[in-house]
Formats: sequence, structure tokens, C-alpha cells
Amino acid sequence: MWLRNCHGSNPMKHLIPYLQDDQKAADYLRQVRWPDGVTCPHCGSDAVEPRERCDNGLQRFNCGPCAARLGQQCAMCTDWTSSIFEESKLRPREWLLVMGLWQLKLNATDIAAAADIQERTAQRCINLLDGGIDETYHLDPTRQLEHQVEADACYQSAGSKGLPREVECRQREPRQRGLQLRGRATAEMGRPPLLGLVQRRDQADQDAPAAPVYLAVLENVRTATIKPIIAAKVKGGAQFFTDEYNIYHCTKADYDHRTVNHGAGEYARRDPDGTCVHCNTMEGIWSGLRNFLDHFRGISQRFLHLRVARYEFLHNHGHLYWRQAFEAALRCIFSTTGDYLRRMAHQHRRMPLTLCYR
Ligand SMILES: [Zn+2]
Repeated sequence: MWLRNCHGSNPMKHLIPYLQDDQKAADYLRQVRWPDGVTCPHCGSDAVEPRERCDNGLQRFNCGPCAARLGQQCAMCTDWTSSIFEESKLRPREWLLVMGLWQLKLNATDIAAAADIQERTAQRCINLLDGGIDETYHLDPTRQLEHQVEADACYQSAGSKGLPREVECRQREPRQRGLQLRGRATAEMGRPPLLGLVQRRDQADQDAPAAPVYLAVLENVRTATIKPIIAAKVKGGAQFFTDEYNIYHCTKADYDHRTVNHGAGEYARRDPDGTCVHCNTMEGIWSGLRNFLDHFRGISQRFLHLRVARYEFLHNHGHLYWRQAFEAALRCIFSTTGDYLRRMAHQHRRMPLTLCYR
């Protein structure tokens, strides 16, 4: 199931020519980072001249304006300066392979085995990649849903995996794992709620992309938590479909809000104006997300939002060719510097676990 895509069954085929050596991998990654030619990561100037490559195949550059500003003979940077890869020990070819496997929705264990690297290294790699997607794509304030939008909440059991001391001090039974659809849970109870928003695919338009989603990991499902997210992510005037749960009552003024009464056994209906009122698209997304998260065999709350961001990105790019989706992910990842990881590491030393994941 990991290989399923509407455009062919060999998702890493486009990477094969670049996986042969580090120089080819570095050249490909550079081309995606700077499609219009290399510019200095410090000053943005295109007056950069290539110099000798590093041992791992990365290209070095000398930036003329930076050298002049610093009063030096040269000011060097490489293909990876100011990117999340900068401090990594992995070689370009290894990174390229890891990213290809990441796109296949694999977990750290499987990536480590397939790329022949340490599992801890693979874990760090996927946190960097997922974090880059979270920061640049998930949090992109310009991304909005419109026309017909369904909303639904569910709960993901996620706790203190990987933090035995945290589990011990709570002295309780291991919790039930997995994605659960009903019940009022909170992050503090070990079942952080997820809010899902999905724009229905336009059936009349053959070329319309797959239904785009927005998936948020929340502290709780109070109206005060949910209202600002809906206001930011769903364009005013949209048709808005939910169940009858009262957290959504706030949306009447801004949207054409229609509810199905799940409590009364109603799951879909056609209104007199021909509108189909249901949340079935969102239910389908939950089942896809559940499959994806199950693959991580129990997931820490610290990382849940990162995995969810990867799922959201890959779902929303699922209508593209593998190569297009891969390069879109890479562009997102190159546009962040990994500050989120430093922030996360900082928070974790100081804050109780339940506050740590937003
Ligand atoms: Zn410069």
C-alpha cells in the first residue's frame, strides 16, 4: 500500500540516476534548491563562483560581495549552507535515499534498514524532514480551503513513548493505542484530539486535485481552541459540513453551516437545494491517517504533529507525479533552517510533556 500512486508503481525511479554517487546527488539537490542558479545563502547575491568540492561531494562557492563586506579574500559557502542538512554527517547520496524512503511514508526502523544507517540517525532525519514540512507547509498562513468544506475531530492515543521515566511516574496501565473517533479526550489524558478540515474535490472538474486537507493536533476540542483555526483555514462564504457536536456552533455567521446528526443515526442526506450533507470525505481521510500512524507502532506526543504534517503534505500532493511531489517537499525543506528543532529541544528540557507539542 505504501507504493500506491496514480502515476506508476516505481516511486523512486526518478532518483536512480542521482543515487550513483555523492556528486550526482549533490548536483541534483542543488538544482532543486536553486532552479535559477545558485545564490549566496547569506546575502542573496548571484555573484558566486564554484570552487573545489568538499570530500562528501558538495560544491563549495565563494561569494564576492560577502568577501568584500567582510574584508576577506574569500567567503565560502556550500550547497548545504543555511539548510537543515548543514550540520548533518550523512552524505548527499544517503540523504537523497532517506528522502525517497520518507516520501514512501516509512518509519525510522524501515528507513534505517533500507538506507543502511543507524536507527537513531534515521529518527533524527525524519524529524528534520517532517519538521521542515510542518514549519513551511502546515503552518503556511496563506493555505485556505473553500467551496465545500467538511470538518471533524478524532483522537489519537499518543503518550510518552521513548521516555520511560515519564511513563513510570504516572503509574498507570498502558493506554489503548490507535486513532479513535469519538469521545472527549485531551492531550493531557494521553489522547490528543485532531481537527481535520477537508475541501471536497470538485466532481465536475476532471483535473481537480485530490481533496486538500488541513490536519491540526490540538490540546482539547473546546470551541475556543477550534474557532480560530476554522476562521483562519476556511474561507468565509464556504459551505461547511460537520456533525451536530456543539463545538461547531460558532461558525453559523461566517459559513453556510449544515450538520448531520450522527447521534440520531443520520450519516448523509440530500438537502432540498441538492447539497449533500455528510462528513464522509473526512472519515476517509481519518482511515488513511490511521493506517499511516499505525505504521509507527505507538507514537510519542512530541512527534505526533510532525507525522501528521507529513501525512497532510503527502496527501495534498498525492495527485502529482512522484518526482513533482518529491521536489515540492524538497523546496519546502530547503526553505527552512531547522530552527524548529532547536526550539523543540529547548522546550523539552524545560516544560512538562503535555505542553510540549503546541
Ligand atoms: Zn554572499
